[in-house]
Amino acid sequence: MADYSGDKKSRDGQLRAAINQQLVETGEREKLKELLRVRLSECGWRDQLKLQCKEIVRERGLDHVTVDDLVQEITPKARQLVPDDFHISSHAPLNGLKRSKCPTCKASRMYFCYTCYKYVENINIKDLPTIKLPFTVDIIKHPKELDGKSTAVHAALLAPNDVRIYSYPVFPDYSKVKDELLLIFPSPDSQPLEDYAKVKENSCLNPLKRATHIDTSKLTPLKQRRLQSDSTFDYEAQFNNKEGQLSSQNGAGLPKPNFTKVVMIDSTWNQVHGISTDERLKGIRAVELTEQSTLYWRRQHNSPDYFLATIEALHAFLRQYHEIFIGPYDHEYDDLLYFFKFFHEMVNRNKSKKPGKGHQKT
Ligand SMILES: [Zn+2]
Repeated sequence: MADYSGDKKSRDGQLRAAINQQLVETGEREKLKELLRVRLSECGWRDQLKLQCKEIVRERGLDHVTVDDLVQEITPKARQLVPDDFHISSHAPLNGLKRSKCPTCKASRMYFCYTCYKYVENINIKDLPTIKLPFTVDIIKHPKELDGKSTAVHAALLAPNDVRIYSYPVFPDYSKVKDELLLIFPSPDSQPLEDYAKVKENSCLNPLKRATHIDTSKLTPLKQRRLQSDSTFDYEAQFNNKEGQLSSQNGAGLPKPNFTKVVMIDSTWNQVHGISTDERLKGIRAVELTEQSTLYWRRQHNSPDYFLATIEALHAFLRQYHEIFIGPYDHEYDDLLYFFKFFHEMVNRNKSKKPGKGHQKT
């Protein structure tokens, strides 16, 4: 085995060298580098690093920092900060716009009205992306979540036929449709999305499957803890479900989802538990997202890294949904981040204009 991996390593090395040589000879390498430079600058990566360097110099004094020190300290952060590749439509239709009226409440707003969830009058809706979602989404918004800061409104604007926003404590009566729903919320009972596929009717009754040995190492850390602390929780059933789901594949070889609507909670980290423990939401199956660090420029004080902005969470969920139930993800839902990216870049541009103020958290 060791020889094999050594061979593979040297083959990879040769291949990399050959590709590199070709890129240099054709001039493509310089073009790629330039493109990367432009993209990293646009997304605010360059400005963020500049600010971090300035901060280090300010803290220690110019005489006590060498360029080598800076490189050593900044490089790991720089790698972390490179954003994922998203395919997002051009923001050109938003550039140079002035405030305008909301067609519903007539208030003067920029781009859209965050209380009516409508674009303002000087926006031509046809110029902006519209996304069709594979299920409907209800977002329950905490009344104290500031309208202007919430990213839930982005979802209602960009996927207008599929997203509805409700202001807590007002939301639809779900008591008769709980089987059709999935709540995106991490809890001790929440499961990863792939567990919510339709199970073939007889697969759970298969005695051979019932006797399947449970390998606890395959459980998420959250569930391992739960298993240790709660001996009554039926993990065997969960595992059998999972096996059943593998055999319940549709014609395309992919499982089918067993829900038609997704419910989300839009609030700060501190308020979220107030809504999630509402009696009316009890009994709705909960799904947990795979951990992903938030890009949110307004990261909330004391919230964990993986506490995503609502629009980021919906995007991450759709991406997983697509990969599990539809096929390889090809950026189908990236435009949900259209305004998220636009404001992110705007904040980064403003930060770089005001050195020293970039690290304030709100
Ligand atoms: Zn309005």
